[in-house]
Amino acid sequence: MELEELGIREECGVFGCIASGVWPTELDVPHVITLGLVGLQHRGQESAGIVTSDGESSQAFKVHKGMGLINHVFNADSLKKLYVSNLGIGHTRYSTSGISELQNCQPFVVETLHGKIAVAHNGELTNAVRLRRKLMRHGVGLSTSSDSELITQLLAFTPPLENDDTADWVARIKNLMNETPTSYSLLIMHKDIIYAVRDPYGNRPLCIGRLIPVGDMNGKGKDNSETEGWVVSSESCSFLSIGAEYYREVLPGEIVKISRYEVQTLDVVPRPEGDPSAFCIFEYVYFARPDSIFEGQMVYSVRRRCGQQLAIEAPVEADLVSTVPESATPAALGYAQKCGLPYVEVLCKNRYVGRTFIQPNMRLRQLGVAKKFGVLSDNFKGKRVVIIDDSIVRGNTISPIIKLLRESGAKEVHIRVASPPIRFPCYMGINIPTKEELIANRPEFHDLANYIGADSVVYLSVEGLVSSVQESIKARQESENSLKTQKSRAGKIGHCTACLTGEYPVELEW
Ligand code: SF4
Repeated sequence: MELEELGIREECGVFGCIASGVWPTELDVPHVITLGLVGLQHRGQESAGIVTSDGESSQAFKVHKGMGLINHVFNADSLKKLYVSNLGIGHTRYSTSGISELQNCQPFVVETLHGKIAVAHNGELTNAVRLRRKLMRHGVGLSTSSDSELITQLLAFTPPLENDDTADWVARIKNLMNETPTSYSLLIMHKDIIYAVRDPYGNRPLCIGRLIPVGDMNGKGKDNSETEGWVVSSESCSFLSIGAEYYREVLPGEIVKISRYEVQTLDVVPRPEGDPSAFCIFEYVYFARPDSIFEGQMVYSVRRRCGQQLAIEAPVEADLVSTVPESATPAALGYAQKCGLPYVEVLCKNRYVGRTFIQPNMRLRQLGVAKKFGVLSDNFKGKRVVIIDDSIVRGNTISPIIKLLRESGAKEVHIRVASPPIRFPCYMGINIPTKEELIANRPEFHDLANYIGADSVVYLSVEGLVSSVQESIKARQESENSLKTQKSRAGKIGHCTACLTGEYPVELEW
């Protein structure tokens, strides 16, 4: 089911680009960033912004921001404002901390003792209230309610041992990281450098790509191709469309300096002793695009494994397996394959419903899900159907679909959910319905099949989800010494499951 229908929203996507070689570059940096952000549009659709620079002086930042989708904010005219550029960072956002308005749009730009910086942030700070008070006590005024402005001001804050004449950006970034444990993936642009930073728990994703000549993209010798530039992105799904190949992930706690010459690790800030990393497990379940790569594995493959695991945990006597188009398709294929049942489509979706501002009248409202889906009744009339969904969050979207399938001839409708029930709020950058709205916390949950009108309903267990996510990471760690060495710098692997278990990776401060 689509995130909007579930009432869950990802917060943001960040994207940066720096040209290699001779400057001024021939690489169209603003255009590369725009296309990169289009690839991250699923992570935020309220506003977008790009800040670029020629890299000569930080006074020369060029900024364009606006409300709406990337293609509305950036057109031929607005892109003209961003040239001549050798590097830049961009952002697409939803709002949780900070209301949806232009002044909260990122990247944020502030003047520091050492010139301007631009900052793009994905995540939400678990100790934002205390940090806001602390900064204001030091006389720093904040003009927005956004955590990202707070981060920008903390970076502008001079760390105790810094000499006034020399900027020590590693010390400034580490100062920020010591003040707040999670959750942030950051791009910081200063003069001719982009710093890419992930919080020590690695809660939100960030990875690096290498821009290569378009003609080499599918060639065998692409590893030896000339590097035209570097890109850094919340998700690798945006790389293919801009002619970049996946290079590597930014590790939890890592501070990476990306210049026109190289990608260099400046430091890895550790977590408190024994704490595992806490990458958001729901990036795998729904937020990310299926063609993105996290922790060395494709999101699609993990979703498929979740479906296979669900088939082991909750098999059912049925004739066919299907899904509500289309985010749960990999899990449905995994379930079908494991059970030896055919995967058959039962619904087709009208992609344009819900993207209109026309208010439906009473008659259209009564039509409910029939507005959104066509029914492929020839495929399932008289059959027992298993529908795989990626989550049932509030319980109000799946029942009309079950009703529609029954009215169109399904003999039985069984629901299998490829993730565990959500019971707790997220404080790390994902907008989840209130505790009271979550179906798993309501009395109806005890007889959910009856409530939603299904013949049966079973969710994937937390252990099943975690093992589906970690199976191939562990296998790879055992077999590849080099990876072991690299990962050991980022510490013990773990995943945040707080919205399922109530066990938050860090103590929450309010
Ligand atoms: S609480 Fe849930 S949504 Fe939030 S970071 Fe953890 S796993 Fe992700």
